[in-house]
Amino acid sequence: MELRLIGDPILRKRAKKVNNFDNIIKELTEEMFSTMYLYEGVGLAAPQIGVSLRLFIMDSREENGKKVVINPEIIEFLGEEVSEEEGCLSIPEIFEDVVRPEGVKVKYQDLEGKLIEEELHGYQARIFQHENDHLDGILFTDKLSLLKKTRIKKELNNLTQKGKKRSQELGSQVRS
Ligand SMILES: [Zn+2]
Repeated sequence: MELRLIGDPILRKRAKKVNNFDNIIKELTEEMFSTMYLYEGVGLAAPQIGVSLRLFIMDSREENGKKVVINPEIIEFLGEEVSEEEGCLSIPEIFEDVVRPEGVKVKYQDLEGKLIEEELHGYQARIFQHENDHLDGILFTDKLSLLKKTRIKKELNNLTQKGKKRSQELGSQVRS
């Protein structure tokens, strides 16, 4: 699976709700896990592989840290705002501190369509928020201060040009 890079318009689209909990979705998530582990990521959202659906996977490498998350909603933000370094498989080689709430109360569906409601904290809450943003076309670099944005502007512009080019090459493969 080809990773979509910043500059690819699919990363800026609001993804569509998943309505069919079928084998296509199951196979898609399996492919996503292989891709995520290949690139040593901790989360991957469907738009990052060219599929505009409200679905992401994550694996914080902790107990119960591996999840398939479908049609997620953040019900409540919990705790204090904390600053932690983030990266993104769609924005390679850029790592910056991002401020986010420490915890979240969330609900989502699993592969069988079963509704799950839980509270996440720390690393899992951070991954969940980062991936959930992808489904609304938001990237972590959008959340940086003006100063940080200015500092990485050139690098980001270069990546965006590359991402645009790649999206044109991959364009016909977009599924939704
Ligand atoms: Zn990301």
